[in-house]
Amino acid sequence: MPMPSVDIIVPVFNEQEVLPLFQERIQAVMQSCDVDWRVIFVDDGSSDESREVMRQIHDADGRFGFVALSRNFGKEYALTAGLDHASADAAVVIDVDLQDPPELIPDMIAAWHSGYDVVYATRKVRHGESATKKATANLFYRAINAMSKIDIPKDTGDYRLMSKKAYTAVNKLRERNRFMKGLFAWVGFKQKQLLFEREPRAAGQTKWNYGKLWRFALDGITSFSYVPLRFATWIGMTVAIFAFFYGAVIIAKTLILGNDVPGYPSLMVVILFLGGIQLTALGIIGEYLGRMFDESKQRPIYLVEEYQPPTDS
Ligand code: UDP
Ligand code: MG
Repeated sequence: MPMPSVDIIVPVFNEQEVLPLFQERIQAVMQSCDVDWRVIFVDDGSSDESREVMRQIHDADGRFGFVALSRNFGKEYALTAGLDHASADAAVVIDVDLQDPPELIPDMIAAWHSGYDVVYATRKVRHGESATKKATANLFYRAINAMSKIDIPKDTGDYRLMSKKAYTAVNKLRERNRFMKGLFAWVGFKQKQLLFEREPRAAGQTKWNYGKLWRFALDGITSFSYVPLRFATWIGMTVAIFAFFYGAVIIAKTLILGNDVPGYPSLMVVILFLGGIQLTALGIIGEYLGRMFDESKQRPIYLVEEYQPPTDS
């Protein structure tokens, strides 16, 4: 019987320091696994020496290949490109910075052999992250799970193993706004959770900042929920009902007591309040509309500049 094969998909953006460390760790871990494995790095438009380092790694060990994108598209797009180039019986998605310990891969493979299609890694502890980042992450997961039908596991990154069945399903979802965690959850299949302790970065710097995280959160919520749109409807209806009764009160008062021109402050309050709500609602519609605009242009999700497939040594 042929050995099962596993493709390891690794998004890389300016990671020249960690690439060699990653190579060593993966080689050491995979030695103990009874699978045919290959690594596909995705160079997400790095501006440092990452591409050269990948080439050296490929020349030294043919099981490492790479796909280089034409510019920086973002991690979600790098993952998409990597998964599109996967062909093995299973694919593992892992960060190159060693925050996702490769030592978990054998356990993932074991769970896959016992019949699971998706084995995802959930962190027990987040080392080296600030209290605010933890709190905002928490809030985000609660919000998105409350607003959408899909269930995204908390404290779970992209680190996971997917059977061919599962990753082919993910690859069929060609939407432009790619919130991968949501897509992974959306496809379903038999899922298993493994717990691990997330390490601090081995070297280099995180590519995230609060601006990026905010856009990421908006992408996630708008891709999987209409609740913000409905929210505008509910507020609008509530305000309209209030306004109706308030109008009735004013008419009655004017009929009974006559009109003595007061009410400038209350007018201002109502105008500003409604103006604020209307602009917010327009903004929400705009978030969805902009994403529909992206979809309607039908551009490719990413562009490949160079593909150096693993050559299985
Ligand atoms: N990454 C990428 N494209 C980007 C940003 C990040 O491919 O535009 C990769 C990065 O090289 C790493 C992974 O995505 O392998 C996670 O990035 P990072 O460690 O910066 O995120 P964090 O772990 O801080 O959430
Ligand atoms: Mg990281």
